[in-house]
Order: sequence, then structure tokens, then C-alpha cells
Amino acid sequence: MTRAVTAILPESSLAVANRDEMLARIAVRCMECGERFTGADVFTSCPACGGLLDVVIPTKRTILPADFGVELPDSARHSGVWRYAPLLPILPPDSLVSRWEGNTPLYRDDRLTHFAGLRDGHLELKHEGHNPTASFKDRGMTVGVSHAKAVGARIVACASTGNTSASLAAYAAAAGIPALVLVPDTHVAVGKLAQTIAYGAKVVQIDGDFDRALLLLRELTAAYDVYLVNSVNPFRLEGQKTIIFEMLEQRGWQAPDWIVLPGGNLGNTSSFGKALIELQAVGLIDRLPRLAVIQAEGAAPFAAYHASGFEEYVPVHAATVATAIKIGNPASTPRARRSIELTNGWVTTVSDEDILGAKAVIDRAGIGCEPASAASLAGLRRLVREGVVLPHETAVALLTGHILKDTEAVTAFHFDDVQGTARSGANRPVRVAAELPALERALADALHG
Ligand SMILES: *Cc1c(COP(=O)(O)O)cnc(C)c1O
Ligand SMILES: [Zn+2]
Repeated sequence: MTRAVTAILPESSLAVANRDEMLARIAVRCMECGERFTGADVFTSCPACGGLLDVVIPTKRTILPADFGVELPDSARHSGVWRYAPLLPILPPDSLVSRWEGNTPLYRDDRLTHFAGLRDGHLELKHEGHNPTASFKDRGMTVGVSHAKAVGARIVACASTGNTSASLAAYAAAAGIPALVLVPDTHVAVGKLAQTIAYGAKVVQIDGDFDRALLLLRELTAAYDVYLVNSVNPFRLEGQKTIIFEMLEQRGWQAPDWIVLPGGNLGNTSSFGKALIELQAVGLIDRLPRLAVIQAEGAAPFAAYHASGFEEYVPVHAATVATAIKIGNPASTPRARRSIELTNGWVTTVSDEDILGAKAVIDRAGIGCEPASAASLAGLRRLVREGVVLPHETAVALLTGHILKDTEAVTAFHFDDVQGTARSGANRPVRVAAELPALERALADALHG
């Protein structure tokens, strides 16, 4: 197990001393055996037992809404993540790497509320596609890469289904640290790969799926001096908590009954449970919303684990159109289980057709998202139909990524036939002669929908 990471930049010894002191003050704890570490250690799992690590946030104090967004260093003044510093690990200000992440919209559109089966005004959508690289991954990446910079990492690396690599590539470029990215050899959405290449990361396509890529990378980072930024990294999960903080701030600190999110590697699920417990401890919310995690039918090991009463966990070989949640052995499973248990949460599945159907409704409302994001609305609809979520309850659904991440999914939905016919709602461009009468017919069609 390596830990020493050599700094690359010449610095004044005073700055380094302060930095080391600040890192040493961050408490990190193994969730399995309780062993304690500090922010100066560069582990992504417990060296004693292999368990997952948590950053420990002091919560034996009251925090008020007015405590957020104050006294931020210039490096993070506009960040929708670092404004929640009182509930984040305190990193040296000169290490912060920010691209004004967060600050994402919370939409209401009652066409979507009806689709879900809830009463008017009872559904909101937190659109994390409105981040600098167009997915929520930026919220974790600003913290992960800032920590990497603080410990003097010479190279950062991740395995990714696409969005983590796009985000890592951007933040590594911002920090001036080289990045290595492992992606599966098939089914990486072109938009995500394009971003990763353009931002300058070294991209390695491996002959295997995401789960294999992550396994390989964890071996590599154990043997070499490489900073791993997958969502097993506890610092990344700290940044993702701010999705919850910002959503609740936007709702005047009134918790909804449910928070519905897609589940892939289960980083968000883990992070959201931790965020909610901390908010309750410092007095910012007085009751816990329930988390509902939605997995794609073909990639649902956590849903099966939940259905077994968390007795039997079996990894699967993942298959789904929603590539961002195409994960068969989620790295954060024990942490995610803790989140479901603490919030009296729920886990269910949706089919690929349900995902694409819900996505079309979200897109058609002028909001738009990538396929994995639509699992949240599809899953909420299922839970309302099954009576798990009641129509008078309130819900916030998470949209995790932008529509332009996966344009192939859009064109396939609208252009490709299913069993010889177009899908209902398919919107195909029409070719007409360059003449006014033809255009008039098109105008009439457009008017009548
Ligand atoms: C990463 C990702 C997910 C899955 O999130 P987890 O935290 O791994 O469960 C879902 N949707 C999109 C768009 C993502 O990028
Ligand atoms: Zn341990």
C-alpha cells in the first residue's frame, strides 16, 4: 500500500507546513472497523480491513442557513459546492480547484408531476446536468481534485462509464495535474468521450466492462503513486452532499417526503444519506426525507439486495441503455445500504423502455436529460402506482446528466422503429420540397401537433 505522494511544485515551506497541518486536522474513519486516519493519508479503502472510508464532519453544533456562503477564498467564491464549507472537509484555500460547479436549477413542471402520478406542485426536479461538464460528477470532483492537489498528487486517475472521466479530465486540467482514465471498450456515450479527450486526459479503453476497469485501476493505484478519484474516494462523496444542501436551501430548508435518484455505483445514494444525517444533527432539518433509489432492470444488484432484506448480495453482469448506471457490482454498496436504512428508504427497478419513455416526457417538457437521469422519474411513477409513494406526498427527483451527453440515445428513440413501427412520441424530421405549398402543409402539421 503506497501513501507518500511527492509534491511536484516548489513551494515555500511555510505554505507546506500550514497545508499539512490543515490536512492532519481532517478526520477520516473506516465505516467497518472504525480505524481512524486523517486528510493527509491517501487511501481509498481501509488499509486494516478493506472497508469504505468516511470523512468525519463535526456536527455537535448548530449551523444556521446564514452560515453558508460566507468567507470563501477567491479560488472558490462562486462555487455552489464550497459555499457549504461548514459541512465539508476544510482544505487549504490555495488547493481549491473550482469551475463554479453546482448552482443548478430546481424545476417544476406539472406535466411531469402528472406523469409521475403526484398532485400538482408536489414534484420538483434538481437538474445536475447544469454543471460545468454537464453532470453532477463536478460536485464531487472539485473536492476530490482539490484534495489531490493538497496532498501533492502527481497524477489522478479514474475508471468511468463516461461522466466521471469527463469531469476528472476538466478538473485535472484546471489543476494542472495529469489524468489517466479507464473506460469500457463499448457503450461509452460519444459526448462524454469527446469531453474527456478534449480536456486532455489520457484515455485507455480496456477490453472489459466498467466493473473490470475499476478493479484493475484499484490494483494499479495500490501498487503505484496514483491518486484514485472514483466514488470510493471519500472526498468526492463530500462534494456530492451539496446536491442535497442546495436543493434544501432552494426549498427554504423544507424537506420533501421523498428524494428519488438513479443508482449506479451508488456514490450519490451514500453521499445523500450522510448529508441528511448531518443536516439533521446540526438542526437545519427536523425530519429525514426518504431516499428512493432506482436501478435499471439489467443492472440492479442493489435492488435485489434490498428485496432480500439486505441478506443476500449478488453482483450481476450489467446491461442497460442507461450507460451511466450500467454497473453490476457497485463499489459503494455497504455505504448505500446504510443510507437506505437510516432514511427508511426504498430501492426499485425500471425497464429500459420505461427509462426511455420517461426521458421522452422530460425532454418534451423542454428540460431534457440523459437516459440514466430519467430512471428517477420512471421509478417514481412506478412507486406511486405501487402505493409506496402516495399522491399527496412531495418528491424531488434528481436529473443527473445533460441531454447532450448522449445524443445517440435521442436519435435512436426518435428514428428507430420498434417491431416495425415508430415509438409513440417519436419526432422525426420531415424532408419536403423547397416550395411554399410543401412548407404550408408542414406548418399545418406543426400547428396540430
Ligand atoms: C454517475 C452517474 C449516475 C450514477 O450515480 P452513482 O452515484 O454512481 O449511483 C447516474 N447518472 C449519471 C448521469 C451519472 O453520471
Ligand atoms: Zn477498516
